[in-house]
Amino acid sequence: MRYEGTVYRPPSEAGSLIIQLTIGCARNTCTFCNMYKDKKFRIRPLEEVAEDLEMARKYYSHIKVRRIFLADGDALIVKTKDLLYILDKCHEYFPEVERISVYGAPKDILGKTPEELKQLKDAGLDMVYMGLESGDDEVLKEVKKGVTSEEMIAAGIKVREAGMILSMTIISGLGGKKRWREHALNSARVISAIKPEYVGFLTLMVEPGTELYDQYNRGEVELLDPHEVLDETELFIRSVDAEGTMFRANHASNYIALGGTLNGERDKILAQIEESRRRSKFRPDIFRGI
Ligand code: SF4
Repeated sequence: MRYEGTVYRPPSEAGSLIIQLTIGCARNTCTFCNMYKDKKFRIRPLEEVAEDLEMARKYYSHIKVRRIFLADGDALIVKTKDLLYILDKCHEYFPEVERISVYGAPKDILGKTPEELKQLKDAGLDMVYMGLESGDDEVLKEVKKGVTSEEMIAAGIKVREAGMILSMTIISGLGGKKRWREHALNSARVISAIKPEYVGFLTLMVEPGTELYDQYNRGEVELLDPHEVLDETELFIRSVDAEGTMFRANHASNYIALGGTLNGERDKILAQIEESRRRSKFRPDIFRGI
């Protein structure tokens, strides 16, 4: 396999074979994100991707590859017929594969018809990771996500109606001290409307090389402290209505780990929050990471 630049994948894809179908992120505008700043976006030639799959098969000749993650940031921007070709190649080289997943940008999902998404699902694209970041339109605008909460809802519902597993992420603290309530309440509104299989919380980190870093150094952004992050998370948990959605806040960027299934384990999650507040033992900033 050949890899270009730093390759990112969701935490739950830690054991997956990662193949870069695209390089970078087609948008690259989000003020908090430095993941693909060093890469100019392009879709790799399909033959190259197929060659990587063939190389990987030779490399893992005695290992069963159960999961494949097609990186980088925007695999769903690829034309459906080309995606179908790559999914076919995944199955040709790895007949044992049980799950193929991608990061899906909302605009790319909306750019596909329901029939196309269903075709992709039937060809083995099982799971889509979508970054909501915030359900609050002002926050989304402020961080230059380039998508509205209504578009997020439409994209999420489309993925779910195609029968794919949907995992969404929200960034704690993204609304800062000014909009933490709106951030929590509107994120709960969006998740309630979509009811994805998974919702994961990350916690905002100010990374050098981002617009947010410059804003922070100019004093334009006020970060939440760990107790304020807990207040925000609690408001989200109390407001969300997403029966069956698995909630997790176990990312390396989080101050504390939380988890449970909504809505049934709401009280359990609230008890975890209360206990974390009481203990006040948070992951030190030097040990937090993306
Ligand atoms: S958060 Fe996602 S869409 Fe935004 S710049 Fe980063 S990779 Fe691209």
